[in-house]
Amino acid sequence: MRWHVRRVGEGASHPGTSAGLPPRGYNRNTSVSPVAAGSGLSGEQRALLAAEHANMLACIRCGQCLTSCPTYVLSMHEAEGPRGRVAMARALLEGQLELTPELIAHERNCLVCDACSAICPAGVQMDPLQVALRAAMDSSVTRPPWQRLMRGLVFRQVFSNMRVFRSIVRLLWLYQRFGVQRLARGLGILKLLRMEEMETLLPRVTEDFLVPRGERYPASDGSREPLGVSFFAGCIMSTAFAEIDRGTIRVLQRAGCDVENTADQGCCGALNFHAGDLEGARRLAQRNIAAFEEDLGGPIVVNSAGCGAMLKEYAHHFRDDPTWAERARALSARVKDVTELLAGRELPMRRDLGVSVTYQEPCHLAHAQRIVHQPRALLRSIPGLELREMAESSLCCGSAGTYNLTNPVESRQLQDRKLDNALATGASVIVSANPGCLMQLQGGLARRGSDVPVKHIVELLDAATAE
Ligand code: SF4
Ligand code: SF4
Repeated sequence: MRWHVRRVGEGASHPGTSAGLPPRGYNRNTSVSPVAAGSGLSGEQRALLAAEHANMLACIRCGQCLTSCPTYVLSMHEAEGPRGRVAMARALLEGQLELTPELIAHERNCLVCDACSAICPAGVQMDPLQVALRAAMDSSVTRPPWQRLMRGLVFRQVFSNMRVFRSIVRLLWLYQRFGVQRLARGLGILKLLRMEEMETLLPRVTEDFLVPRGERYPASDGSREPLGVSFFAGCIMSTAFAEIDRGTIRVLQRAGCDVENTADQGCCGALNFHAGDLEGARRLAQRNIAAFEEDLGGPIVVNSAGCGAMLKEYAHHFRDDPTWAERARALSARVKDVTELLAGRELPMRRDLGVSVTYQEPCHLAHAQRIVHQPRALLRSIPGLELREMAESSLCCGSAGTYNLTNPVESRQLQDRKLDNALATGASVIVSANPGCLMQLQGGLARRGSDVPVKHIVELLDAATAE
C-alpha cells in the first residue's frame, strides 16, 4: 500500500503530541486569533484557511467519522482520516505545524467524498475545508514544468471554454472510431506512455453533443400543469454522455416538466475547486450564476451528482463576496438532483424491464446532498426491476474527480472493493448517477473482462417510460 504514513510535524515542530495531532484543550472560542508564528504561511494562505477556522473548531474529535472514511478504512492511519485532517489544518493555521510535504500529501489524499461530513454530529464540512486547504497549499506544491503547463491548460483553457472542451472530446471520438485506439493498444504505446490504466477509464463517446442554446422542450404529459425547469447540461455529461443528457430531458418531459436547456452555461468548476484553482473555479461559477439568472427561474435540474453538489456549494464559496453572495445563494437554492425532483412527480411507467440491478451511491449524492432514498424509490417504481443492495454502497468507488489519476493505487483498491461488492449481488446491471462513477466502474469491469453493464439511473427511467 502506498500511503504516506510519516507523522506530520513529527519532532521539534510539534512536541508532545501523538500521531502528529495538535494537543488537546484548544480554546474553542471562534474569536480566537489564528497564530501565524512558525506556520510559515503567507498572508494569502492564512486568509484562505482562516475562512474555515470556525469549521475546524467545530470538530469535537469524537471519531464517529473514522470508519466512514475510505482512506482511513484502507490505511487505519489517523492522519488519513477526517479527524486527523481537520486537526492538521487547524494546527497549520494556528501555527503548530509547518506546511510539510507529508502534511500536503495527507490532505491531498482526501477524496473529498464528504462521507465524514454526512455523519459528523458537530457539523464539520470537509468539502469547503479541502477547497480552502488546496487553494492555500497550491503555491507550496512542487510540480515539474510540464505538469504546471498541463494544469494551466486543462483548468484555464479546457474547462473554462466549452468550445475547446467539445473539440477535445471530438478528438477522443475520432481516436475511438477510426482504429487509432485499437492500434495504440495493440502496439503497446499506451503501456509505454504509462497511460494504459487511464485509457480504460475513458467512456465510449458520442459525437452528437448536446449544446445548450436556450432551447425549450415542452412537457409531454398534458394532463397536469407543467413545471418549468432549467437543465444543467454539464461539460462531460453534455459531450461524452450526451445521450444520457437527452434521456434526462425526455424523462423530465414525461414527468410533466417544460425543460429549458439554459444558454451560456458551462462547467460547474468542481475539478478546479478541488484542485486548488480557486480563481478559475470562481470564474466558472460566476458564469453559471449569470447564465441561470436569464432563464425562467424554476428548479435547475442536474443529472451529475458531482455537479449538483458543487452548484449547491456556490452559496458557501461566495458567502463573503458582496457582489456575488446573494446571486450565488439564489442559484444554489434552485438546484435539484434529477432523482430529487422526479421522486416527487408521477412518472408514466410503460415497460416492464425484467432486470435485477444494484445501486452504487455516488458520494456527492449520498453524502454531499444527502439524497439516499429518492434514487432507490425511483428504481423500485420501475416495473419488473429488482433492486439488490450491495454492501458498502456509499463507500467511494475511487473515482473522486481526478483521484484515479493522482492516486492510482488507492483508487484501484477502492474500485476493486466496490466491484467485488457489486458483483457479489449477482445483479445484471450496476446503476449509478454520476459520470465519474460510471467511468470508474466501467473501467474496472473492462479490466476484469466482465460484460455487466453500468447505467445511469436516468437510462432505466427513460427505458421504462418510453412510449
Ligand atoms: S465526526 Fe466530526 S466532530 Fe467527530 S471527529 Fe469526525 S470531524 Fe470531528
Ligand atoms: S472527505 Fe472522504 S476521504 Fe476525505 S476525510 Fe472525509 S471521509 Fe475521508
